[in-house]
Amino acid sequence: MSTSVKNQIIEALKVQKEIFGDDLFEQKSRRTEIVSEKIDSYTEQESLFSFEQEDWLRTSTLAQLEKLICNCTSCILHEGRNKFVFGSGNPNAEVMVIGEGPGAEEDKQGLPFVGRAGKLLTDVLKAINFSREEVYIANVVKCRPPGNRTPLPGEMDTCLPYLKKQIELIKPKLILCLGLTAARGILKKRDSLTNMRGKVFEFENIKVMVTYHTAALLRNPHWKRGCWEDVQKFRKLYDELTGG
Ligand code: URA
Repeated sequence: MSTSVKNQIIEALKVQKEIFGDDLFEQKSRRTEIVSEKIDSYTEQESLFSFEQEDWLRTSTLAQLEKLICNCTSCILHEGRNKFVFGSGNPNAEVMVIGEGPGAEEDKQGLPFVGRAGKLLTDVLKAINFSREEVYIANVVKCRPPGNRTPLPGEMDTCLPYLKKQIELIKPKLILCLGLTAARGILKKRDSLTNMRGKVFEFENIKVMVTYHTAALLRNPHWKRGCWEDVQKFRKLYDELTGG
């Protein structure tokens, strides 16, 4: 910086000091403090992104939540979306069923598990004395992955806060996870489905059990027996937890 520019700056600062006194400099430093306090609080909330999304984090009903997140563009899956598949069922359900992500029919209708795998899910639930209407059904990702591919870990992680918020609002006693992808997506375990079946895990302080995805049962009907054993254990745990 040339001497003449430096002198001009010094002159300008002197004039400002004459007019505003030292207050100007004190106020400036307080502003800096306020900004850094805000930055600290962003960091506490993990990221600026989550701070900006506070509106949906503060919602107290599923309907409000759906309204605020249904136009989400946070991951690439939104690009191929026909409908955002939020979830459906009893907002006060004691049981939540969690699948992987919408398929073609779900993407068309905007509702989870309405295709062939969904029909089978209705039957599985009926077999353990739950109606579809009394449970709440949702997916780890809310938008259909192209060609029904498995959602990527990053896509699941981006969408997971929405599922967490749904769980916070519904407060189920028990979660049934369908398939390895959904189980890994929420439980963050690298285990195989064989190892996870029959065990009780926790997610957001709620007990979770894992069984086959109903789409897998359509492809491999001989897994139905294993699924039957799993869901009977699930029903037993539900009865123990609720005295039902
Ligand atoms: N498979 C899923 O995982 N979810 C659905 O909603 C439908 C099929």
